Amino acid sequence: MSHIFPRHTKSQPPTAVRGDGVYLIDSEGKNYLDASGGAAVSCLGHSDQDVIEAIKKQAETLAFAHTGFFTSEPAERLANRLISNAPEGIERVYLVSGGSEAVESALKLARQFMLETDQPKRNKFIARRQSYHGNTLGALATGGNMWRREPFAPVMVEGHHISPCYEYRNRAEGESLEDYGLRAANELETKLLEVGPETVIAFIAEPVVGATAGAVPAAPGYFKRIREICDQYGILLILDEVMCGMGRTGSLFACEQDGIAPDIVCIAKGLGAGYQPIGAMLCSGRIYEAIEQGSGFFQHGHTYLGHPIAAAAADVVVQKLTEGGLVKRSAEMGEKLDQALHAEFGQHPHIGDIRGRGMFRGLELVKDRASKTPFDPAMGIAGKLKKVAQANGLICYPGSGTIDGKQGDHVLLAPPFIISDSQIDELVGKLS
Ligand code: PMP
Repeated sequence: MSHIFPRHTKSQPPTAVRGDGVYLIDSEGKNYLDASGGAAVSCLGHSDQDVIEAIKKQAETLAFAHTGFFTSEPAERLANRLISNAPEGIERVYLVSGGSEAVESALKLARQFMLETDQPKRNKFIARRQSYHGNTLGALATGGNMWRREPFAPVMVEGHHISPCYEYRNRAEGESLEDYGLRAANELETKLLEVGPETVIAFIAEPVVGATAGAVPAAPGYFKRIREICDQYGILLILDEVMCGMGRTGSLFACEQDGIAPDIVCIAKGLGAGYQPIGAMLCSGRIYEAIEQGSGFFQHGHTYLGHPIAAAAADVVVQKLTEGGLVKRSAEMGEKLDQALHAEFGQHPHIGDIRGRGMFRGLELVKDRASKTPFDPAMGIAGKLKKVAQANGLICYPGSGTIDGKQGDHVLLAPPFIISDSQIDELVGKLS
């Protein structure tokens, strides 16, 4: 008997023993095509020799130096590489160990910024319904994923949420995409006026919604209007690119495609590409300077911040994404994946929507295509699909949930960017 504490305690998952390119192999020798890259993590595939070499080399040189006493060469290298590719105005990198920690750090930095700039009454975050920003209590309290929040609600601060930008369900008949984008963004202003804009610290959102909605990009103009509203009311814009960042959507930072820059952006998953646990919170020069010239101390931190081995691995990951051309490949192969999905499922009676950007694609599962009627949630259709796919040697990421009483089930596809044409055919074939 194994003493491991599995995530799902009523079933024992297979034991993964090896990774090879886009495949995972279990202890029985069975191959799985990793069509979700874990959870949009494995952008380089499972056996990248350059990353493996960097890890070995760094482990032999310097494994750990506590950030209370030192910074390290790989951490500095990684920070510089990220900033030279970051959205305008982003100047500093705070390295952490994962996505929830990156979001937690962002929330606390945003609050501390308000204190340093003499705005202590600002104490609220606004997010979107059905959003997921991490499982630690602060990130969970901010997110709008109700079933995850519910058990812990009594020990969390109250959340403030607006509708997500979700055109498949929420665009009105005859409404243009642009008009819908504006209408959805204006909900932020309405919410601000309701709670008092002078009490709000920041708005947080994913540029392309991943786990909770299945690769839903915002409508054109949505984030430009969000940026305007944030500036008008002096609140910060935090983008959660934990899942959709690091080339996943075809640009290193997803927000590049929305034509805006945030005040703070969180990244993780693809940054480590599965080789090391790592995340980062990147902030604007303006925020950093407020701390630097104020208290001089960010009141938040964890022991494994900026871990040298994780940073050395991530530095190679970012180099391969940018100079190595893998972000471009994500955009190109993503188009191919989209075409293959449309060819196979474009008229499927139970697939209502095929969406996404780059190597980040989602299929919305519906009972009836014409009326967009979702499946009965009690059926757990996405979970069933995940099980059947895994039995068939395909790993895809299921999701289900309700946005304003409307959303149903979806499947998220986020394969490694190195996937080949024939592996895309294999993926689509196994899914159908
Ligand atoms: N934000 C988003 C958008 C995510 O998708 C996730 C993980 N699914 C997180 C935050 C939390 O990241 P982690 O699991 O690395 O803590």
